[in-house]
Amino acid sequence: MPLREKEGTYMILQLDNIYKDYLTGKMVVPVLKDVTLHVEEGEYVAIMGPSGSGKSTLMNIIGCLDEPTKGTFLLNGKNVLGLSDNEIAEERLHNIGFVFQTFQLLPRQTALENVALPLVYAGISKKERKKRAAQALEKVGLGDRMSFLPTQLSGGQKQRVAIARAMVNNPKILLADEPTGALDSKSSVQVLELFQQLNEEGVTVIMITHDSGVAQHAKRVVYIFDGELSEKRG
Ligand code: ADP
Ligand code: MG
Repeated sequence: MPLREKEGTYMILQLDNIYKDYLTGKMVVPVLKDVTLHVEEGEYVAIMGPSGSGKSTLMNIIGCLDEPTKGTFLLNGKNVLGLSDNEIAEERLHNIGFVFQTFQLLPRQTALENVALPLVYAGISKKERKKRAAQALEKVGLGDRMSFLPTQLSGGQKQRVAIARAMVNNPKILLADEPTGALDSKSSVQVLELFQQLNEEGVTVIMITHDSGVAQHAKRVVYIFDGELSEKRG
């Protein structure tokens, strides 16, 4: 029962005193320096900072794609550091949906097949996968594009397919790294509206961006500069 700081709130992400060094050749490069970040379930947080400040490094740790050099990390109340690869994959599947700047869709698979992919790993039957993937695509406004290949979609549509894929297994957290970085302003607005809608439905949204206009859409902005995090602009 360690997670309730205040009555009625639940700490879904709890990073304390996180350090991340990269080893390049014989050089140790410190990238994250004493990062502490607590996020309650249902928050919409933007992590904003310039290129090279450590945003993607932090996202990879939050998303259990990489481990910190030092520090503690509880995801949905569970210490995920030191778990086996299989255990981590399981936590990731239930807790986190990823969205990337470059969409990361499989080029030879249709929109529907791309969205259904996480459900294959979740062991869901083929019929059920198709049904849920179709619902997820309807929800992002692409019910009429299910059989399209990524090359037949616009950038904004590709990102909405990626959001449907991120959300198809109903994860608690949507983790997005520069989700509008490759989009025109109209498609960016559509993506940000979708994030807001998902957040209103209870999804915790963590959005990484270097763009202050984009960060404004979140309810809370934290700043990262040269690997240090603060709630105030540095
Ligand atoms: P951002 O996403 O804010 O642009 P990154 O987290 O990608 O920043 O990178 C932060 C710093 O860490 C950069 O100086 C980058 O060169 C370095 N870095 C990132 N990944 C690696 C890696 N795998 N090995 C060595 N250095 C890395
Ligand atoms: Mg980055």
